[in-house]
Amino acid sequence: MSNTIAFIGLGHMGKPMALNLLKAGHSLRVFDLNADAMKELQEAGAQVGESAVQIAKEAQMVFTMLPAGRHVRQVYEGENGLLQAVAPGTVLVDCSTIDAQTSQDLAAKAAKLGLIMLDAPVSGGTGGAIAGTLTFMVGGEDQALDKARPYLEAMGKNIFHAGKAGAGQVAKICNNMLLGILMAGTAEALALGVAHGLDPAVLSTIMARSSGRNWATELYNPWPGVMPDVPASRDYQGGFATGLMLKDLGLAADAAVSQNSATPLGELARNLFALHAAQGQNAGLDFSSILNLYRQKS
Ligand code: NAD
Repeated sequence: MSNTIAFIGLGHMGKPMALNLLKAGHSLRVFDLNADAMKELQEAGAQVGESAVQIAKEAQMVFTMLPAGRHVRQVYEGENGLLQAVAPGTVLVDCSTIDAQTSQDLAAKAAKLGLIMLDAPVSGGTGGAIAGTLTFMVGGEDQALDKARPYLEAMGKNIFHAGKAGAGQVAKICNNMLLGILMAGTAEALALGVAHGLDPAVLSTIMARSSGRNWATELYNPWPGVMPDVPASRDYQGGFATGLMLKDLGLAADAAVSQNSATPLGELARNLFALHAAQGQNAGLDFSSILNLYRQKS
């Protein structure tokens, strides 16, 4: 008998991930606080639930893709939380990017209730979520990952077992600290070149074929119009919100403090994104809009 899957949190990432589970032929029930977010999935064949608990009770595997740790805690252990409601043996997979301590706490509570929980944050952006090519960084037990793997493979291309509970989050936070640094650095370099009269597309091509090459120059250029189909070319709509990048850089800073690690560039990037997020509506724009902090407007 095929498993019933519950998917909770259908935002920029969760919606395309859930659509890929449907495309792979899985029976899917979905829930989001925002009713509009569920429409497309319903049209594609998913059953829409009335609450997270209602759909999770009937599922053998539950995925959550929520903004931050407080939402994850609320869904799992708040009033009517999933942990108390789902049947023993249910596999719970949280794909949100949150602090490792929360993932460890929830996994320990889940285990006491006979449940299996994995942290499985992702990388690859909305493009990777749509294409089903995400990278999953998984923390938790081997057997749990074995159960989740076929479903993760419907949504992603690379599935890494980082270690025990919380290890997926640590890997993700390290990755996103580097992403914040490289996006700010790429924006800084492009703005410097353009201030000297270079064409941003020409400079981008040069850097993409030189030692400054990185994920932003190859796939996610922050300068409007240089690449089609990236947030920079649609007024920074969609993609990965500046507010979420700021959250991840804060998680990296907390993680650094807890181990007395030095992360000076990560801290600088956090401050740059905090300055940027505080202006106007920037927190809701894609994080590549950090370019506007550097760009000289004529
Ligand atoms: P988002 O804000 O677009 O989506 C979150 C969704 O969760 C929203 O639809 C919201 O209504 C829903 N939600 C919030 N609380 C809920 C609750 N209690 N019950 C049900 N639904 C609830 O965020 P996103 O961009 O999809 O990101 C989700 C997570 O993935 C974040 O932790 C983010 O850091 C991480 N992430 C995002 C990207 C990206 O490119 N957007 C890439 C990698 C990882």
